[in-house]
Amino acid sequence: MATTFTVGSQTIPANRIFCVGKNYREHIKELEGDVPDQPVIFMKPVSCLVPAGEKIHLPLHGASLHHEVELVILIGRGGKHIAEAEALSHVAGVTLGLDLTLRDVQSALKKKGHPWELSKAFDESAPIGIFVPMEKLEDIASVAFTCEVNGVLRQAGHSGGMIFPVARIIHFLSGIWKLQPGDLIFTGTPAGVGELHGGDRVTISSVPIGEFSWEISSSAPLDPV
Ligand code: ZN
Repeated sequence: MATTFTVGSQTIPANRIFCVGKNYREHIKELEGDVPDQPVIFMKPVSCLVPAGEKIHLPLHGASLHHEVELVILIGRGGKHIAEAEALSHVAGVTLGLDLTLRDVQSALKKKGHPWELSKAFDESAPIGIFVPMEKLEDIASVAFTCEVNGVLRQAGHSGGMIFPVARIIHFLSGIWKLQPGDLIFTGTPAGVGELHGGDRVTISSVPIGEFSWEISSSAPLDPV
């Protein structure tokens, strides 16, 4: 079923999910990567989205499921070659999401130089919160957010720490893809990523955005359709 977002008076169906990798220095350090000279982009299918409050089932094709809390942007007005100075006027809403990652699978794929989809784009890999209208945020470059697992703080980030800020990401993406309403952008995760296990409750929150939570279930989905 298609996911639809309501932001203020607008109802926007999810269109595509763009994700930015390696956008915070401390996270790059913890994974022993290099600071990129342009945004690292990958995609997930919109069928991966999981609304807050639903269960997330542990994927069976990997052993190390990692949480990555990220600020998520919803495009409200499309465009190609969007100027950086205009970019934020194309944003309808902002929320938090999890870029769930099978770290062991990703490491194996990286070693072989293969694409990342098996580690990043599997079912239920994109839990997403509820969007607040862009105009409700004072400054998109000044949003603090956290990820807790079973009440224990794992990640504490601040959007001011992005290597490529939101406006530059929109400018970059729109030079390659004509952005469309309903496009989502996961903007990268700060340091502190770690494992999730069956029975865990993962909670992501930010004062201006809200708090969203999911339970990790180790059982297979009841409805495989
Ligand atoms: Zn990520």
